[in-house]
Amino acid sequence: VTPIEAIVEEIARGRRFLITSHARPDGDSIGSQVALALALEGLGKQVTIVNRDPAPASLLSLPRVEDIVLADRVDEPFDALFVMECGDLARPGIEGLDKYRIVNIDHHPGNAMYGVVNWFDTSAAACGEMVVELLDALGAPLTRDIATHLYVAILTDTGSFRHSSISPRTFEICRRAAEAGVDAASIARQVYETASLGKLRITGALLQRMRLEAGGRLAVLTLDDGLLQETGASAEDIDGVINLPLNVKDIVAVAMFKEAIDDGLRVSLRSKAPVDVRAVAQRYGGGGHTSAAGFTAPDREPATLARIVQDVAAAIDLTGVDRATPDS
Ligand code: 5GP
Ligand code: MN
Repeated sequence: VTPIEAIVEEIARGRRFLITSHARPDGDSIGSQVALALALEGLGKQVTIVNRDPAPASLLSLPRVEDIVLADRVDEPFDALFVMECGDLARPGIEGLDKYRIVNIDHHPGNAMYGVVNWFDTSAAACGEMVVELLDALGAPLTRDIATHLYVAILTDTGSFRHSSISPRTFEICRRAAEAGVDAASIARQVYETASLGKLRITGALLQRMRLEAGGRLAVLTLDDGLLQETGASAEDIDGVINLPLNVKDIVAVAMFKEAIDDGLRVSLRSKAPVDVRAVAQRYGGGGHTSAAGFTAPDREPATLARIVQDVAAAIDLTGVDRATPDS
């Protein structure tokens, strides 16, 4: 029995399903969850989506997103729980999930296999690509609303069609989405051109404070306490800023230290292939993808932060990417 066959069987047997994903959900977590929910509802099932944190503001107006339940504990009975995009069962940040029959669907390398069915496919550019495969196996149609969410999942998780995880199937799904009536231009506008003024201001402030390390190959961004208030930005407005230094030719990795968000000091890492920042994150108990990973720092000591920067610099050295030359 393949994982997909086992999942189809779980769906056939059950009537009430719960779907969840990781805390601080992104476009792929929202898109994957809602696309699956709409398909299951189309099959006559009852579906609840529960997340610890709200969807990004830019996605709130997409179909069914307003019906996502926000909670940090779940107790009602369900026939099965679909956990999307989570390497382990701590990622959702929700209590009480371990009592359900869990279907684990993920595309991150290094999955803890916490489900009764564990399906992961690291070749998928987004978890949304896996959802399409499941819908096809279920014979569920790609309605316009479902296709919209799948397109958002792919658009956001590929970094706007830039990551190395993109494959022919990525574009095949986009082709099907366009055929289902998805308007790529209006989704791009919704996702990328609805920011607050605070976001623009905090982007400027963070880049102003950017430090270069490892001979100009590593950018370090620091969100200090107070910067959010100063600029009128929300915590969510910081998302995406981390990718900007990679626009520069010689910068191949970015480390961002975020104070005052969640508990503890959050560290986000980004890189250009082949620099492996997931290996660094794993050393600190985190994870992610080769080029996008994160973790919570063990403490805020300057020596700890310096060691993290050193570790990313060492990951760059491992790839043999040359130091930036003054005139390059
Ligand atoms: P971000 O920097 O946007 O928070 O996360 C980037 C990537 O790293 C995402 O794919 C996310 O799933 C993963 N990630 C971030 N923080 C953690 C963490 O604490 N643990 C694990 N396992 N993965 C993380
Ligand atoms: Mn994803």
